[in-house]
Amino acid sequence: MPDVQPKQIAIIGGGILGITLAYKLSQAGQRVTLYERGNQLGGLASYMLYDGVRIDRFYHTILSSDMSMQTLIQESGVADRLHFTATRQGFYDNGQIYPFSSPMDFLRFPPLTLFQRFRLGLQIIYAQFERDATRMDVTPVKDWLVKISGQGVYTKVWKPLLRAKFDSEAVDVPATYIWARLRRMMGTRQGVTSKEMMCYLENGYYTLIEALAACCEKNGVTIHLETAIQEIVIDPNGRAAGIRTAEGVTPFDAIISTLQSPLLAQLIPGAPQPYVEQLQRQEYLGVLCPLLIMKRSIIPYYVLNITDETIPFTAVVETTNLIDPRHVKNHHLVYLPKYLAPGSELAQWPDDQVKSEWLKHLKRMFPNFSEADITDFWVQRARYVEPLRPINTTDQIPTVKTPVERLYIANTAMVYPELNNGESGTRLAVRVADQVLADGKTWESSTTNLLS
Ligand SMILES: Cc1cc2nc3c(=O)[nH]c(=O)nc-3n(C[C@H](O)[C@H](O)[C@H](O)COP(=O)(O)OP(=O)(O)OC[C@H]3O[C@@H](n4cnc5c(N)ncnc54)[C@H](O)[C@@H]3O)c2cc1C
Repeated sequence: MPDVQPKQIAIIGGGILGITLAYKLSQAGQRVTLYERGNQLGGLASYMLYDGVRIDRFYHTILSSDMSMQTLIQESGVADRLHFTATRQGFYDNGQIYPFSSPMDFLRFPPLTLFQRFRLGLQIIYAQFERDATRMDVTPVKDWLVKISGQGVYTKVWKPLLRAKFDSEAVDVPATYIWARLRRMMGTRQGVTSKEMMCYLENGYYTLIEALAACCEKNGVTIHLETAIQEIVIDPNGRAAGIRTAEGVTPFDAIISTLQSPLLAQLIPGAPQPYVEQLQRQEYLGVLCPLLIMKRSIIPYYVLNITDETIPFTAVVETTNLIDPRHVKNHHLVYLPKYLAPGSELAQWPDDQVKSEWLKHLKRMFPNFSEADITDFWVQRARYVEPLRPINTTDQIPTVKTPVERLYIANTAMVYPELNNGESGTRLAVRVADQVLADGKTWESSTTNLLS
């Protein structure tokens, strides 16, 4: 008989996806237990305490068009801590810094000829009118960009941006990545001529995670920190029946993993081998991202994109040009990211080596830069950040339902053709919660005898 009782649901991973799932399922009356390996929630969106204030480990902005995120912010009661700011971008090219925010900036951008600037504008407009994600998925990014922007714009603008995002020229990635980015960025403007609006939460992205966690606890969710899942136990009928931690096995009616695909593959020895191999094949870029706490600002932009390939980091992101520095005790926060292809040698560099190399190049870029203005320097790293989707491989994207009955997945490799960010992730989490709730109505419950 189908059972309408609340179900016992385990969620693995306490990042933004996991906590959104826990919130949605508990709001719908389910009994949810969330397991997080780390000592705080948030995952990639977690924080560090510095001088008594929270600082995002990695820079995080919310766009004015991110409606799923703003709905969660509203519902969890922290909308009064969300601030909208007009932001600016720049380009560092051949030793010079150029503004690159408004259509006027594009039209004036000195590294390009007038005709090249026109073609760059055309590419941005073209992306807004292109609606066919499938066509973008089978078109190599370089072919698409060269066809519309021309080789000169490709070399000066797109190639450095691709290198920044993919740690290579990325000729084998689909056009989708730039197409989706252009559409997302234009969504932050109220018309072609208006300013780019971005948002931040006081005390960082974690403000939302913390508020959602408080809602979850009110809804009866149990949150276990510092609890790594060692295995998802699959019963002889091929059904996910429970999770194993250092404490032993706990039975559940259903299990949802938010882990990056290769991490999930390690937890399911009992799943069909071809499925485990599919998850293992999913590649991710990592990130090496030093954070400088400065006494003074070094750029007037939120992001300065770097075209010079001899500089090891690919952007300067000064988040205190978005965040009011008063919210972070007037420190200036500067992130210097480098995305890393799997196997990159830079991933092995010790922190000291990263620091001396990064500072050497900062001094080259900004002759007035002084080490005396640095209050602190931290090197942040993450191995599984940006899922890579080669051209025409959408059939490899994992589905919400897995071949293991009652094991579901929600991870960032599934948001394609959208980009990996809080907005696409939380929308996916809501969709997965709806799927689990719908399926749950047909389940004959009982977690009690499954593992005996
Ligand atoms: C440098 C950088 C800049 C970014 N900028 C932005 C931005 O401006 N705006 C934006 O919206 N997004 C941004 N993002 C992307 C955003 O951080 C991610 O989309 C989002 O945080 C992914 O959340 P998640 O829950 O999918 O994964 P994660 O945050 O990785 O969460 C997964 C969790 O699972 C836990 N876990 C792993 N293994 C186990 C286990 N065995 N048992 C239990 N728990 C386990 C991990 O500890 C982790 O907490 C940025 C990311 C980076 C790295």
